[in-house]
Amino acid sequence: MRHLAASVVVLALLAAGCTYALADETTRWACGPFRYEINPEGATDAQIDAVHRAVERYVAVTGRDAQFVGLTDQRRSVDPRPLDAPVLIEWFWPDDVTFSRMGFGEAFAVDGRYVGGSVYLRPSESPTPAWLVERLTMHELGHVGGLLDVDDEQEIMNPALTVDEWGDGDTVGLLLTHEPCA
Ligand SMILES: [Zn+2]
Repeated sequence: MRHLAASVVVLALLAAGCTYALADETTRWACGPFRYEINPEGATDAQIDAVHRAVERYVAVTGRDAQFVGLTDQRRSVDPRPLDAPVLIEWFWPDDVTFSRMGFGEAFAVDGRYVGGSVYLRPSESPTPAWLVERLTMHELGHVGGLLDVDDEQEIMNPALTVDEWGDGDTVGLLLTHEPCA
């Protein structure tokens, strides 16, 4: 039923016209728990709570369950992790990432299927407010979910982060990059 419902939502939103961009037209996440870990170093408790809320709002779109594996001291850039390890969310900025964004997210694919990902949130001297961490994490999880940035300011995938709800385009994009949960 959920498959049918998701298809109807996609068709209705496509008919209405909305903006989304897929990193890859055919790569999908399988239905199954969205497993994630957090490296809490440098974050406040309120920021960590905001990350959990963002994950819940991400899986709510895709029909998956969130599975918090736990806190970790691993860094994606330091510790070798398999591509299909739980998605690691960390407050860390790699030296070789030169653009001036507040965060970035990436998805890892194997054989045409997304299997994992990573989210980097830029540490700052004055803590980023929790509401903004939540919005930012949703945006970066959109990248983990296979979406690209868009110009439409009604979408979370606009890098200006002007809205705090998934837009129609975000919703269509995430439904297209996730195999339906039966
Ligand atoms: Zn982005």
